[in-house]
Amino acid sequence: MAVTIKSAKEIELMREAGRLLEIVHDEMGKIIRPGISTMDINECGDRVIRELGCKPNFLNYGGFPASICVSVNEEVVHGIPKKERLLKEGDIVSLDAGLIYKGYHSDAARTYAVGQVNPKVQELLDVTKQSFFEGIKYARAGNHLFDISAAIDDYVSRFGFGIVQALVGHGIGTSLHEDPQVPNFRQKRKGIRLAPGMTLAIEPMINMGTWEVKWLDDEWTVIAADHSVSAHYENTILVTDGEPEILTLHI
Ligand code: MG
Repeated sequence: MAVTIKSAKEIELMREAGRLLEIVHDEMGKIIRPGISTMDINECGDRVIRELGCKPNFLNYGGFPASICVSVNEEVVHGIPKKERLLKEGDIVSLDAGLIYKGYHSDAARTYAVGQVNPKVQELLDVTKQSFFEGIKYARAGNHLFDISAAIDDYVSRFGFGIVQALVGHGIGTSLHEDPQVPNFRQKRKGIRLAPGMTLAIEPMINMGTWEVKWLDDEWTVIAADHSVSAHYENTILVTDGEPEILTLHI
């Protein structure tokens, strides 16, 4: 599939899809505390998405049984929400959410500390988030796609954390996953040349220990192979003539 270049009208729809998803994340972020279940978070996110007049794009995607991926501690991504999975003080929880607005998709993830976490875990959260910002610096017309990958890799590697390779970022638009793939680690090739109107989900997934992952028997939940904790941070972004635009975060 070719990489799509969005028209001005499509970009407006993508911006709105992104703005609405930020509201969903803000609402979910407010309820994070010890004692709530991962299903409570899913129900909150699903409700807000529908109240905003949108549809959750993860629900039933490839058979995924919920609207929000809720991944705790060593779970990297694609955690399935459960009533009986309660958050406790010192956990971290990654919320990956997406929605469809008038046929256009947005996708973003945040990782939260539940109460107080130890300083090394907090560093993992901070580095994962910052690695997105290091990557997006290179999301400029004329640069190459894998400049983004290299910038994330160079930043994260300084801290000795493991960069997940089995899952990568992606183009996004009228489909949740479009070309190109956006790896979070250095590539041998340069990748495509970036052009205005490309919309990408950049989403570093970083483990405290090894970069290697495995899948649980539920066939969805990805965990760090050494069971170390893992963080995920993602935004949908737009490549422009100048500064890249973050569609799912308005600072
Ligand atoms: Mg994504």
